[in-house]
Amino acid sequence: MDIKKLATDVLDEVIKWRRDLHQIPEIGQNLPQTSEYVCNVLDELGISYKKGVGLDSAIVGVIEGGKGPGKTLALRADMDALEIEEETGLPFASTNGNMHACGHDGHTAILLGAAKVLNDIKDEFAGKVVLLFQPAEEISAGAEPMVKAGALEGVDGVMGIHVGSISTQGEPGTILFSKGSMMACLDRWTLKIKGVGAHGAYPHNGRDPIVMAGKFIESVQTVISRELDPVDPGVITIGMVNAGTAYNIIPGEVNIEGTARAVKQETREFIAKRIGEIAESIAKVSGGSVEYDYIFGAPPVINDAEFTTLAMESATKVLGEENVELMANPVMGGEDFAYYLEEVPGTFAFLSTPLAIDGTIYPHHNSRFALDEEQFDKGVAVFVQTALDYFNK
Ligand SMILES: [Zn+2]
Ligand SMILES: [Zn+2]
Repeated sequence: MDIKKLATDVLDEVIKWRRDLHQIPEIGQNLPQTSEYVCNVLDELGISYKKGVGLDSAIVGVIEGGKGPGKTLALRADMDALEIEEETGLPFASTNGNMHACGHDGHTAILLGAAKVLNDIKDEFAGKVVLLFQPAEEISAGAEPMVKAGALEGVDGVMGIHVGSISTQGEPGTILFSKGSMMACLDRWTLKIKGVGAHGAYPHNGRDPIVMAGKFIESVQTVISRELDPVDPGVITIGMVNAGTAYNIIPGEVNIEGTARAVKQETREFIAKRIGEIAESIAKVSGGSVEYDYIFGAPPVINDAEFTTLAMESATKVLGEENVELMANPVMGGEDFAYYLEEVPGTFAFLSTPLAIDGTIYPHHNSRFALDEEQFDKGVAVFVQTALDYFNK
């Protein structure tokens, strides 16, 4: 079977679906129009599905191979957009105040394309394809409820593809794989440093939490620069510091909030522990105290090496060796695809599909972010070929 050709044959439809979805972007967990659109296409294709798996807008489709039972592979597309006013000037640009500025419209269309091809050739394989159409990736609140509701029941492997230009490695049209840590965790932490408020002219009567915060802000960066192995990436960023009501009053407390990123679970736990210890010790020597909370968000994306090797071989069959690459370094962004990988072995891949607007390639989450749709058949082909090879293995 010429999978590349079957994928190219559905490209026009994939582009149509993508453009339709691009004009109805919705954000968060509730995507009524988007999920209705996907259900309508699945109905047209004659593919059975369940809607409302963990979330009202979450859809799980199923394609059973005609050659009997075998392994079950889940293919995943996220469907949510961002609250951004689109400025691409494209004829199918969104006008509803939201924008598919991360390419999830492309993911949904590519998965529908793969579903169409797999459904057409289902008599040729033994096994089962599960289609995961997931809301709320951008707020890291889609995969987890779907997993909890049983979306991965009976599933042996999982695969997802992200389009756009998340990694700058590789030429457009390249698909990037990683046999281990690929993306970072998405954690958040909050810190309240409590001192004793006083008149600004009589600091000895108080315990100044702003001075404590200053020491903390500087010291906490040494976790990354002095305590982590330099080749093991980590990030601590403070995004909010709030305190004070007047120029001549020492406030009673300072509130700090930040994010932390790491690509290994041990590193993540280490960072979480050290932020708290450093804050506590600084507050203690200065006569203050702290309240510290570290909120573990989506875990790091850690691909299964064996599954990734298989997917890379499949991708090479349909795209050629020159279009398949191993990532040199992980990226520090996060992805809630990580929740699926915690349950079953699988892989996440980046298909490079940047499109310049007025001569510039804009990053993800930018109001001028755009995609080269002509590359979408590559995503379809990789999904289909990987599924067939996985079932035959
Ligand atoms: Zn995004
Ligand atoms: Zn995304």
